[in-house]
Amino acid sequence: MKHILVAGGAGYIGSACTEYLLNNGYAVTVYDSLVTGHLDAIDPRAKFIPGDLADREKIIKVAKEGNFYGIMHFAAASLVGESMVDPSKYFRNNIANGINLADAAVAGNIKNFVFSSTAATFGQPEKCPISENDPQKPINPYGESKLCFEKILNWYSQIHGIKYAALRYFNAAGATENFGEAHNPETHLIPIILQVAAGEREKLMVYGNDYNTPDGSCVRDYIHILDLAQAHMLALDAPESGHYNLGTGKGLSVFEIIKAAEKVSGKKINFEIAPRRPGDPDTLIACSDRIKKLLGWKPQFENAEAIIESAWKWKLNHKNGYLR
Ligand code: UDP
Repeated sequence: MKHILVAGGAGYIGSACTEYLLNNGYAVTVYDSLVTGHLDAIDPRAKFIPGDLADREKIIKVAKEGNFYGIMHFAAASLVGESMVDPSKYFRNNIANGINLADAAVAGNIKNFVFSSTAATFGQPEKCPISENDPQKPINPYGESKLCFEKILNWYSQIHGIKYAALRYFNAAGATENFGEAHNPETHLIPIILQVAAGEREKLMVYGNDYNTPDGSCVRDYIHILDLAQAHMLALDAPESGHYNLGTGKGLSVFEIIKAAEKVSGKKINFEIAPRRPGDPDTLIACSDRIKKLLGWKPQFENAEAIIESAWKWKLNHKNGYLR
């Protein structure tokens, strides 16, 4: 049985990937500080080691002792807006602490490394959909920190023989039956809209209606976390290192997401137009042909309503998110 070390397995995407690995016959150890993750988001079948990637000695010890086949790295700070206010947090967490995990891979002779990268590494793209080889010019410290770590992994690959996959997610969304999105405070579009639908929040603030898009609101490519999980598993066994964009290839505006959520929930979503959020590009849409062609990735969720419906179901069954 292949044993995977999942750093950040108590977070939104890490929890769904842990569940997916366990369902597919892998053994999993979750390493998580629980600073933003939740104890209840860790699949009970996984072994859990509480710890922070800032604790270099600890993560190196864990990596040396686990006989791991691979590492999945989800343990990072991931908010564009916050990164524009506190860049230091992003460079420390996502680069300095990431290096501790990469060094742990070297120390533990773990050769397969799957890294959560992001569409934010592309900045304001020159064209959409975005392919892997398009220019990467981040416009916020979050994207810069992730791009920097992609480059670090490339050097570790050349020097230490670690095979890595940088998976550039576009907008992760949706839920599995057991695991969903619950940040505190919540900043992401779909969970905020669903809070409004559930009567937990008065309204959504739409950050800008004067973007260069058909309806003026930002356009994003929303991808289901189960499809991300499948991509992670395939990337573990990829024959060589690579970068892959992960999205559905379809862009939806904030207003289109509001409409889809109204249809799914049957509730009216109140909103108000607010100023733009610093660091947001107009449009981000992925071209994911490479991972389909090279690794046989077959996404299951192609439309926003199905994605939002899975998140809505999870929300109805988990009234307080993960709060005990
Ligand atoms: N957004 C919004 N209101 C909110 C949260 C997000 O209008 O309360 C917009 C945001 O400007 C972006 C899109 O929704 O264009 C997706 O934002 P989110 O924070 O969910 O993900 P990101 O694109 O930052 O990864």
